[in-house]
Amino acid sequence: MKPSASNDTGSNHPASSSSEFVKRYVGIISLVSTLLIIVIFWGFYSRTTKLIHDQLLHEARAFFEEIVQTRHWIINQKGVYVKMLPDMRADPNLETIPGLKTVITDQDGERYVLRNHAVITRMISALAQKEQNFIIDITSLNPLNPDNRPDGFERTALEKFEAGAAEYYQMDNAPAGPMFRYMAPLVTQKECLLCHESQGYKLGDIRGGISISVPAQRVIHEINQARIYTIIAAITLLFLLLSVIIYISHHFVKDLKKSEHLLVELATTDSLTGILNRGEGIRRIQQEISRSLRVPQPLSIILVDIDYFKRINDNFGHQVGDRVLQSVSANLTSVLRNYDLICRYGGEEFLIMLPTTELSKALETAERLRLVIAENSTASEDGKSIAITISLGVSSLQEGDSLDGLVYRADNALYIAKEEGRNQVQFIA
Ligand code: GH3
Ligand code: MG
Ligand code: MG
Repeated sequence: MKPSASNDTGSNHPASSSSEFVKRYVGIISLVSTLLIIVIFWGFYSRTTKLIHDQLLHEARAFFEEIVQTRHWIINQKGVYVKMLPDMRADPNLETIPGLKTVITDQDGERYVLRNHAVITRMISALAQKEQNFIIDITSLNPLNPDNRPDGFERTALEKFEAGAAEYYQMDNAPAGPMFRYMAPLVTQKECLLCHESQGYKLGDIRGGISISVPAQRVIHEINQARIYTIIAAITLLFLLLSVIIYISHHFVKDLKKSEHLLVELATTDSLTGILNRGEGIRRIQQEISRSLRVPQPLSIILVDIDYFKRINDNFGHQVGDRVLQSVSANLTSVLRNYDLICRYGGEEFLIMLPTTELSKALETAERLRLVIAENSTASEDGKSIAITISLGVSSLQEGDSLDGLVYRADNALYIAKEEGRNQVQFIA
């Protein structure tokens, strides 16, 4: 394992910070998409609900118009005669109008009774209720027939008509089930005055209204169905969208981390030997020195220089020189502990830091380093083994010391080692 500083305080972690950044944006995008889908589907659902409501309204309006037209036709006809069944009687209200024959008999003796628009509306209403569950009521705030008194909805509607409203409707929860209730006013016309003038109505007055109740069970079922489909569609879309976002961002973050990791590696390692480069090595040694001074605890460094390296280049070529640098670096690394640090300090110089290590221990390590290099040779291109030796300068951290002071002493010790004949360890504490 490649040794590195014991306290790897590589303080900034660009990979994690950028993935946090991506995650934050993915969070925002997911939130915005979720809100957008909710808004779109809510709008869609509201529109569907409104269309279904409008369908009920159109149905009720059409029915109202049909009744009004039928009533006008009957009024214009001055009533219609219907076959007089055994339980039928002449209308007492009509009997008071002079000139009207309320009951007639044909040449076969069959009797027919005169029915006005109000009675026929009631008959149509009874039929509509029986066959379609529609309820039709003609009512007024001042009814001729006390049975035609308005209920709560109708009273509210009639009051609104007095105030100028053209129609009134609402969804009602009747005991028999939900009903869509619609009401529109009946305006007093010339023909109406014949019977209703006595009540004080004048031409154009609102004489009452027709209320139509349409069963809404089917429609509510449709609305509920629309709601369920909308929710299912929204959840499915949201799920798909979030899955795609998460999938893409996951791969994006993975690729980003990979490239950032690669970048950090490129920026901090030496491409030839694979160990830390000078800049990163010094940065980490500086951190460790500060920590060791603070604690305080011992720390030593070793400056290594390959002996007569120029000759190797000259004799065997630059490529072999490179291979020697790689093998020296690997051999030095193999001797060090996990928490020691080695970096390429210069062309054929290496700087080693031994945290929590006093001078005596550092000298032992330096000697082991010297031996491992001296005992291992590198093969040249034509198979000859190239003997390599190194010189080492050791120094240890003093109170109030600095990186420059420490390296200065190690460099001087290295100089002495070279002067004294190379392939040896020297120190300046
Ligand atoms: P000394 O024992 O005094 O250290 O002698 P030396 O020949 O090792 O010292 P010198 O500083 O004169 O030579 C170092 C040589 O290392 C010079 C340079 O061409 C060579 N060198 C520096 N970097 C590289 C490299 O990356 N690859 C190779 N092949 N050679 C390098
Ligand atoms: Mg040198
Ligand atoms: Mg050298």
